[in-house]
Amino acid sequence: MFEKERDLYLNRHGFEGMHLKAVLFDMDGVLFDSMKNHAEAWHKAMTSLGFDFPKAEAYMHEGRTGAGTINLISQRQWHRDATEEEKERIYKLKSDLFNALPTAEPMPGAWELLQQLKEDSITPILVTGSGQQSLLERLNKHFPDTFHQELMVTAYDVKYGKPNPEPYLIGQKKGKLEKYEGMVVENAPLGVEAASKAGLFTVAVNTGPLPDDVLWNAGADVLLHSMTELSEKWEALRECLQQ
Ligand code: MG
Repeated sequence: MFEKERDLYLNRHGFEGMHLKAVLFDMDGVLFDSMKNHAEAWHKAMTSLGFDFPKAEAYMHEGRTGAGTINLISQRQWHRDATEEEKERIYKLKSDLFNALPTAEPMPGAWELLQQLKEDSITPILVTGSGQQSLLERLNKHFPDTFHQELMVTAYDVKYGKPNPEPYLIGQKKGKLEKYEGMVVENAPLGVEAASKAGLFTVAVNTGPLPDDVLWNAGADVLLHSMTELSEKWEALRECLQQ
């Protein structure tokens, strides 16, 4: 089912085959249905400070660190970099607004997929731009004994963040993986770009409002429309990526 996509990936990188050992998961919009809340919180925080920031923009910035997003908006509107103090203050405002919203539910299909990984002895690795403790704690609550601290990359581990390949390269290193031993699951264009630039096989799940083309153009190897669809097609995908 996925042979064509796999072969295109192998040819591009000059690898002889895939030997899938680990899946690197983004968190927001992949494991949790949290992007609506992030969009709402960014919009409220930024407009309260006089910035122009429509909700839809949050989906285009998704994956950047909070500080990175704040700096871009500062450059756009103030024509200068944000100071460290501004970055901290605005990100705290955004996080407080986010935490006041109803808690985001796990993405349908995510738990099932993680169970399938467990049965197949495939290691899950977390690679998120988020530094929000609330979501990281919820990760362990909803997916207990699944993601281990030493196999997590968060906003605290990175210097550049997505779309720089850095977070996925750190994830690859933490998992002690060759590139052809990993696969990424991402929903955001900047995340897909980061994963693809890191040289990893990248499955985009389009769980938000952006058109599919944005994810294809960012470098997705495979595009699906939900975590449920990925769970349903997991067996076929795994078999294809283990030969
Ligand atoms: Mg995401």
